[in-house]
Amino acid sequence: MRIDRRRLEQSIEELGRIGETERGGLTRLALTDEDRRARDRMVTWMREAGLTVTIDQMGNILGERAGGERLPPVVVGSHVDSVPTGGKYDGQLGVLCGLEVIRTLNDGGVRTQHPVSLAIFTNEEGARFQPAMLASGVMAGKIPLEDAYATRDGDGVRLVDELERIGYLGPEPCIPRRMRAYLELHIEQGPLLEEDHLSVGVVEGIVAISWSRLTIEGVQDHAGPTPMRVRHDALVAAAEVVGGVRRIARTIGGDLVATVGTLTVSPNIVNAIPGRVTLSIDLRDPQEETLDRALSMIDRLVRTACRREGVRYDLDHYWRVPYTPFAPEVVDAVERAARTVAAPYRRLRSGAGHDAQYMAAISPAGMIFVPSRGGRSHCEEEFTAMDDIVPGANTLLLAVLELAGRG
Ligand SMILES: [Zn+2]
Repeated sequence: MRIDRRRLEQSIEELGRIGETERGGLTRLALTDEDRRARDRMVTWMREAGLTVTIDQMGNILGERAGGERLPPVVVGSHVDSVPTGGKYDGQLGVLCGLEVIRTLNDGGVRTQHPVSLAIFTNEEGARFQPAMLASGVMAGKIPLEDAYATRDGDGVRLVDELERIGYLGPEPCIPRRMRAYLELHIEQGPLLEEDHLSVGVVEGIVAISWSRLTIEGVQDHAGPTPMRVRHDALVAAAEVVGGVRRIARTIGGDLVATVGTLTVSPNIVNAIPGRVTLSIDLRDPQEETLDRALSMIDRLVRTACRREGVRYDLDHYWRVPYTPFAPEVVDAVERAARTVAAPYRRLRSGAGHDAQYMAAISPAGMIFVPSRGGRSHCEEEFTAMDDIVPGANTLLLAVLELAGRG
């Protein structure tokens, strides 16, 4: 049994037109009119495929294809929101491959023991409402519903009001639900599969992540009359930290990645010595111990850099997500499926967060990656070829069939 390439390609093209940018990308922020139109289109397709569609309190869309017995469903999911000037594959592809799997089961008249459901999660990107993966976080019981409702976008608009406005404030409780398994197909968003000319990534887990905030207090002064020997420049210390974070990642090596992504300089004018700088440090690695080691090296780096410049600092390691391993039975099912469809594949780990991370807390979960051209995503150039999407979707189909069981 194999998916219908033409039909999948047409669906990708059709959904991709909703919120399409001039340069062929996608701007479809969560709970905007574009998001509503994409949701409406999906719900129509899901109903046409015979699914029983429900909307939960967080606007998550669930469509169930009945199984032969009263058992928990195998859920295939992802998201249809995007970042501003993002691409047409992040999220969309997982949802559409899930739909294509269900359409293929229908074509073959296949009965499964467990129901097979399609899930579309609200606000995965976190581009409009923070944090990311908000609605899967609520479903997993990790984020209180009231907190999620009260979240405001940059214009002060509440999430719950936008859910209501676009008609997706549903009655179904958004609570942990019993699932046979959760599966998500997603673009890799990195270069590994493309480098090795592979179509499928069998994802073993999602890396551990640590976020830190560094505030450096120097002495703000005039850039002219202040001699070099009496300066306490917060930005000079910060510059040493930025270079040092890169060196630490190089020194430890392996899978560790480290990024200083924000830098706020005060007063940020041409003719004043910077008195205050804040910056962020993002660290990711599959091993908790590696993160611990990197963090203690960063502690030393900051202490040394700030002492040298004679500035005070506050370093806060304020957020940490542990490594999320996926369920071995699901990972193995995905690997068997990839082998059966003869998709060239490798095992790997995700460096980015996904809804599957929260679903792994309440269900056996797994993911399938397909390559991103140039390793790029969250941009209009984001692209995955149909020649890679088809083996990915077929891998999803066979993994779903194995986990749901033939009826
Ligand atoms: Zn995504």
